[in-house]
Amino acid sequence: MTHRIVVLGAGYAGLAATVVLAARSRRRADVSVTLVNATDRFTERLRLHQVAAGEQLADLRLPELLAGTGVALEYGWVTGLDPAARTVRLDDERELGYDTLVYALGGVADTTGVPGADEHAYALGGRHEAELLAHRLGHGGSVAVCGSGLTGIEAAAELAEQHPGTTVTLLGRTEPGEALGARARGYLQGALRRLGVGVRTGVEIVKVLPDAVALAGGETVPADVVLWTSGVRGAPLAAVAGLAVDAAGRIVTDTALRSISHPDVYAIGDAAAIEQGYGMLHGSCQSGMPTGVHAARSILATLTGATPPRFRFGYYHTTISLGRGDAVVQFTRPDGAPRRLSLTGRAAVRYKETVSAAPWPTYGRMIRLPGTGSIWPRGGRYTR
Ligand SMILES: Cc1cc2nc3c(=O)[nH]c(=O)nc-3n(C[C@H](O)[C@H](O)[C@H](O)COP(=O)(O)OP(=O)(O)OC[C@H]3O[C@@H](n4cnc5c(N)ncnc54)[C@H](O)[C@@H]3O)c2cc1C
Repeated sequence: MTHRIVVLGAGYAGLAATVVLAARSRRRADVSVTLVNATDRFTERLRLHQVAAGEQLADLRLPELLAGTGVALEYGWVTGLDPAARTVRLDDERELGYDTLVYALGGVADTTGVPGADEHAYALGGRHEAELLAHRLGHGGSVAVCGSGLTGIEAAAELAEQHPGTTVTLLGRTEPGEALGARARGYLQGALRRLGVGVRTGVEIVKVLPDAVALAGGETVPADVVLWTSGVRGAPLAAVAGLAVDAAGRIVTDTALRSISHPDVYAIGDAAAIEQGYGMLHGSCQSGMPTGVHAARSILATLTGATPPRFRFGYYHTTISLGRGDAVVQFTRPDGAPRRLSLTGRAAVRYKETVSAAPWPTYGRMIRLPGTGSIWPRGGRYTR
């Protein structure tokens, strides 16, 4: 009997799981690996603000990466999951059976809390959406970026740099870079000022209108284009299928990254609610890739009768681009709190670009040397 492992989603986490599964089961005729993704391209999600600003990204093709690995590729939009029958349905009514499922479909912009956000705002949900925004910005007009978290900061800076003369306003509850140390935060806020980004903090967005953003207290901020960056949710698919999810729709996992309601489903990356000693992991590439590697190793260990190990992860940096010519890097403790060390300016730009460009060649290396994917900070006493 062949054990059928199906990975849903070829993002940072899903690809990490796929390459490790492929590399470590290459000589096993009793294991098959199938990767399902919307398209045949790897989307560098962490560069979507660059796409929105009109920049071109590298064309990274899954068949080229996975050639010779034995991974079966299926392209299509996953529309349904039946955990009892262990099947996945795609938008063209194809049905795929699995014995173990790796759910890595990422997250979607959380537009649920504010009326009008879904209808009137753009989001950086995927490459196509980012390209639509780039197209719209080509016609000019003022921009309001809703959400002063890291995605909002990167997007506001990039749009202001690539569209000089355009009014870009960043709106949010918290001051930009709130979680950084004082030096990095001060630098970041200075960079936004230099780029001409208007920053409004301490505001509560209550409605998105076709041509403005309404704030609590009655004020409206006029904007021809609204970009929504505040919050990420799991897609409804998992909850509809009956998997246990948290308030943000993410699949709740046990310490081995299995769904607590359906242990033959592993959940990784932004789609998963993963608890560590210091709290819930927030979606990021630095944690997403290790979740994929860990799930892959756990699945293969389970097939030999071993108990899968506990997933442990500690953060080590926060990297923020401020357009193409500037950046901030804050080194952190495993729980994400800032350490004293930070980089700014050109050194930070080089560091950020090295980190952003790393995943694709790393997958190639992990196919040849799967052990190298298992090196990440476990968090020491923070996760013990
Ligand atoms: C603008 C921006 C900047 C960011 N910057 C950083 C950063 O500097 N550092 C950092 O660590 N993180 C950053 N992030 C967050 C990071 O990109 C995510 O945490 C990461 O992409 C999560 O990886 P993932 O594999 O879980 O999901 P994703 O990378 O989103 O991959 C999900 C995959 O599933 C596919 N998919 C989704 N739904 C379906 C479906 N129904 N059917 C078929 N296929 C589907 C998608 O096409 C995609 O290929 C940033 C995010 C954004 C938007």
